[in-house]
Amino acid sequence: MHFRDFISSVMFSVLLNLMILNLIFGVQRAFSSQNLNEQTLELLMRPSIKKEGKFLNYHQERNPTMVKGFKLMWKFLFSDNQRKPKQKLSVQPVNLEIFKQNSKDYLSSTWLGHSFLMINVDGYRLLTDPVFEKKVSFFGPSRYNGEVPIKPDSLPEIDLVLISHNHYDHLNKFSIKALQHKVKWFLTPLGVKKILVNWGMPQEKVVELDWWQSWNFNDELQIVFTPTQHFSGRNFFDRNETLWGSFVVKGPVHKIFYGGDSGYFDGFRGIGQQFGPFDLTFLECGTYNVKDWPDVHMLPEQTVQAHLDLGGKILHPIHWGTFNLAFHPWNEPMERVSKAATQYGVRLATPIVGQSVIFPDQIPNEAWWQTGEQEEMKRALNY
Ligand SMILES: [Zn+2]
Repeated sequence: MHFRDFISSVMFSVLLNLMILNLIFGVQRAFSSQNLNEQTLELLMRPSIKKEGKFLNYHQERNPTMVKGFKLMWKFLFSDNQRKPKQKLSVQPVNLEIFKQNSKDYLSSTWLGHSFLMINVDGYRLLTDPVFEKKVSFFGPSRYNGEVPIKPDSLPEIDLVLISHNHYDHLNKFSIKALQHKVKWFLTPLGVKKILVNWGMPQEKVVELDWWQSWNFNDELQIVFTPTQHFSGRNFFDRNETLWGSFVVKGPVHKIFYGGDSGYFDGFRGIGQQFGPFDLTFLECGTYNVKDWPDVHMLPEQTVQAHLDLGGKILHPIHWGTFNLAFHPWNEPMERVSKAATQYGVRLATPIVGQSVIFPDQIPNEAWWQTGEQEEMKRALNY
């Protein structure tokens, strides 16, 4: 391992999602969605590619400079920019009856903070990237939106757990072990099965998927693992050794998209062309940084664009309001998402932690993140 790679790996471990990649892409597009041409779509629909043991994104990457990496780490550790709310955020007790529904024509979700969701698609029960723990790693930040309002023991039997990638805020050892006996199947990207098996999970419970690979449950529920523009790694030396991605979930009646972590890229249009439209899209909107890592997390306006690319009906923003992982104020993502959504006529679901969305009529949409600090922030952002 070159010294530069080593330094960069160390920083990654400390900062979790602060991957300091300067990819070439990430420029905001206009708010319209045109189909990709056949050639681009064909290129996009390939399986993942590995080079020297590391998975690659679709678009070429440039390495960060060492000096820049240290500057960022310093800023993250010692700067203060309203990254956490001043007051405790409200949390609602989970209504399990919503998750337990058996109807074959039903769609609901319950947000448990960050990217952790309980979803019922046409009677099938799914969890996404479950994290019950308050702190995701030794160095990592703690949840600032209170405890997860449900314990693993209280959950009913679960059909599937979807794991988007192996970052600590998405793949949590305690949570996976606590869920092991409740869950029929765990679906993971290539390379992640080994981690679960090392934690004691039976091999036969884990299905590993490559990009565009499809898997069926009960001949009724179709899951397709789809690409994202991101990265992976859990320690100093394993960067990009396992794959990252998103999931299309197609039930007998409803269809959803769970986006995992991703920068904005033309993959969203490709996925929309292949599998859209979607009743609900769950897309990340926090942890962005236009200057330092523009391409592995989306800007809030790009979240709205990705939703349009996918052909989504209702956008449920995730990956915000839970862990302090970037420099922006904690509620800025939703200020910007809601502004862009209003501008482009996108319907938003904005539950508080523990609250449920029931498609299509019970869609919480209060701007609950607006606080006393808000006016100050709006002025700063020139809204
Ligand atoms: Zn990530």
